[in-house]
Amino acid sequence: MLRIGCHLSSSKGFLAMAKTAESIGASTFQFFTRNPRGGAAKEWQKADVQAMLDFFCQAGIAMPLAHAPYTLNACAKEPRTREFALETFADDLKKLEMIPGAMYNFHPGSHVGQGAEEGIRLIADVLNQTLWPEMGTTVLLETMAGKGSEVGRSFEELRAVIDRVELSEKMGVCLDTCHVWDGGYDIVENLDRVLQEFDSIVGLERLKAVHLNDSMNPCGAHKDRHEKIGQGHIGLEAFRRIVNHPKLKCLPFYLETPNELEGYEAEIRLLKGFEI
Ligand code: FE
Ligand code: FE
Ligand code: ZN
Repeated sequence: MLRIGCHLSSSKGFLAMAKTAESIGASTFQFFTRNPRGGAAKEWQKADVQAMLDFFCQAGIAMPLAHAPYTLNACAKEPRTREFALETFADDLKKLEMIPGAMYNFHPGSHVGQGAEEGIRLIADVLNQTLWPEMGTTVLLETMAGKGSEVGRSFEELRAVIDRVELSEKMGVCLDTCHVWDGGYDIVENLDRVLQEFDSIVGLERLKAVHLNDSMNPCGAHKDRHEKIGQGHIGLEAFRRIVNHPKLKCLPFYLETPNELEGYEAEIRLLKGFEI
């Protein structure tokens, strides 16, 4: 059974998100750990998290994917910005221990002219200061479109970060279909080859989640503008192959398309209908 959900607002708490997911036919969901535009993070209520976990058993919903604020930059030039990334990571990871077996996805960051190599070093540095051996959460690097000076535009850059993380067994990757497409990986014509490349560079055992987004731009555009499923340059047939691919179909899929809840509900129905 396809595990598929979408990004949901966390403003009403954990149980509310789980119920919303169920109401639109989702079997998982993604949420921001805090307001992506920054600001003070709310405390997580233990009882609310527990109510969500209880609801999962009854509704058959799988573990959600936590997404770090996308404004976070672990490889910023400004030490204060890096410090903020570190503090956010540490706080989020501590809270996520409330959710057994959670996954925490983040955008590696933008090196802003310092060069990819320095960016990779700084990102690994933040991870080495925040991960600990007993933690239960898996931290996912998201594949990026390569907009501006984004790190993670290639599988090699993701591998380079993982190689520098001491507790690399805690690390995985989330593949965003819009981002890899914009990054120049042709998942429409060459899905098998792209996955083989991922396997040889990063290792498919590191691939833990997929963000399903169509793209407003052609392959290699390095833009990162998400489009509704089937309405962009990736197209419906490619998504049919993606959700049925033997190397992908057992992973959780998350929609981050420009939609309200009804739009997500329709896309979830569409994609479930593709399952063979
Ligand atoms: Fe993301
Ligand atoms: Fe994404
Ligand atoms: Zn994106």
